[in-house]
Amino acid sequence: MEAARSALRKYFGYETFRTPQEQVIAAVMAGKDAFVLMPTGAGKSVCFQIPAVLRQGTAVVVSPLISLMKDQVDGLKQNGMNAACFNSSLSAAESRDVLAQLDAGNIDLLYVSPERLMMPEFENRLSRLPLALFAIDEAHCVSQWGHDFRPEYVQLGQLRSRFSDIPFIALTATADQQTRDDILVRLRLQHPAVFISGFDRPNIRYTVVEKARPHTQTEKYIKDRPRDSGIVYCMSRKRTEEVSQHLRNNGISAQHYHAGLTNIERGKVQDAYQKDEIQVVVATVAFGMGIDKPNVRFVIHYDLPKNIESYYQETGRAGRDGLPSEAVMLYSAGDIMRVKKLISMGENKEQNRIELKKLESIVAFAEAYDCRRRVLLGYFGEAQPNDCGNCDTCLTAPEQFDATEEAKAALMTVYHTKQRFGIQHVIDILRGSQSARVIQFKHDVLETYGVGKSRSTDEWQSIFRQLISRGLLTQDSENYNSLKLTPATKPILREGAQLFLAKPRLKVEKTRKPRMGDVEGYDPDLFEALRILRREIAAEEEVPPYVVFGDQTLMHMAARKPKSRTEMLSVPGVADRKMERYGSRFLEAISAAA
Ligand code: ADP
Ligand code: ZN
Repeated sequence: MEAARSALRKYFGYETFRTPQEQVIAAVMAGKDAFVLMPTGAGKSVCFQIPAVLRQGTAVVVSPLISLMKDQVDGLKQNGMNAACFNSSLSAAESRDVLAQLDAGNIDLLYVSPERLMMPEFENRLSRLPLALFAIDEAHCVSQWGHDFRPEYVQLGQLRSRFSDIPFIALTATADQQTRDDILVRLRLQHPAVFISGFDRPNIRYTVVEKARPHTQTEKYIKDRPRDSGIVYCMSRKRTEEVSQHLRNNGISAQHYHAGLTNIERGKVQDAYQKDEIQVVVATVAFGMGIDKPNVRFVIHYDLPKNIESYYQETGRAGRDGLPSEAVMLYSAGDIMRVKKLISMGENKEQNRIELKKLESIVAFAEAYDCRRRVLLGYFGEAQPNDCGNCDTCLTAPEQFDATEEAKAALMTVYHTKQRFGIQHVIDILRGSQSARVIQFKHDVLETYGVGKSRSTDEWQSIFRQLISRGLLTQDSENYNSLKLTPATKPILREGAQLFLAKPRLKVEKTRKPRMGDVEGYDPDLFEALRILRREIAAEEEVPPYVVFGDQTLMHMAARKPKSRTEMLSVPGVADRKMERYGSRFLEAISAAA
């Protein structure tokens, strides 16, 4: 495996493999089939790219998204590999050129769409050429059990029979047991070596805050991180437009993205985001499949996602480069009602039932007092015995307070106002407000009027949200969200039961504890200077900045401050070809800053 290690150094600039990269490569080099499930950012690509350069002939890489192929191929070329793509986005002349290069044996890695691959003439052409391997990326697309089934993928199984002596490697980041089994069968893998390395994304910190004033909460969070790229996911198209407008009004560079935009508009947003020209994309779930940006530092869920699978996938877009990243969810009981309503609009009753069940799991995650990562991994059937130390509940244990008096006052007020008013009005009464409506309805004479003065409106909001999520109150969405009592209130109102509620958490705490995946001791000013240089180079070459060097590589440079070529080459991510092209410019920048 010395050859594999020197290829890792030469083409990627890394010294050591991560598990299970080396084992996967060994299997493929030995001509075996392999199935690889590794979480996003764990380094799946290396598993087939290194055998692709080491084995004789061309490696054919099947990938579902034409929009991603170009960036992937550009990245490989930057690293000095012979790569090309072959898909419907090429002009006739470009296609001819690629085919000529292919016939001449000049291509180590050929990225193709499944449609192209299955065209008989193309298949025939391949059968005449020496082939190194077939790699099926996003292999879950072959299964109907997976969350992203692509009919074009199904035919790939036929290839296995036709090219029976060439190794096939199937890779994915998301597949439950059923989907995994299905992939092996459908792709007809032959006694594959199977590598499954869990779902955990240790560098992502999970945090849930109460959704109190979401516009302001989101804006403040982003303003605290002016240099970090992020995604804000919202439930509706309209909401994405409102939120991105609000962010722009407050000086944040943000754009919205949803399926209602034209292809050209969407392409523009995506491109600007990849190139770090806009900081934040506010999007519906339509945004993500075509995004391969390694330095997304945060993903905010402005609205409650419908299930844990979507949440995992959307938050998984953060921190592909392994650097510390955050997933922040704004959570309110009101959102549960909205999602339930959406689900119940579905035609298929059985499907609705499944979706409601899935909704319960994400609610349990949001309301957990336990380590959130444990809840998340547990959902995928993975046990995590110890607390993770990198989620909000692990970092600051949730605190409770005796809320019996507050709850009684709140419930009594709802009762005495005949269950006809919404949260804000009831809070006005409790806080002794002189609002026109309080006066108009003579609610200033109620016995609970003003008893809750000592608590702020935000605190009361939090109490109400918790009373709702515990089922003591419901909101009547047909009637201006007026509050209704439920039978569950009886023990508290009549039987003297105590009630403990959580102290509200309204903002994301910054802790001093070290973050998972951090590069230690780097000079932030130098990092910034190197980022600027990287941006200049990326603009000259018309590629996204991360294609020049990743954030992690720049951080290592800003920590080690290399002075010579040799020192520069030892920085993780500085490979031979990149050293040749950019090494001296970065060395100069580092010495100029010293
Ligand atoms: P995946 O496809 O699993 O999401 P990638 O193949 O894109 O992940 O790799 C994620 C990141 O990890 C990339 O920046 C890649 O260069 C880096 N990487 C891969 N293998 C290694 C390694 N052995 N050492 C250090 N970094 C690595
Ligand atoms: Zn935890």
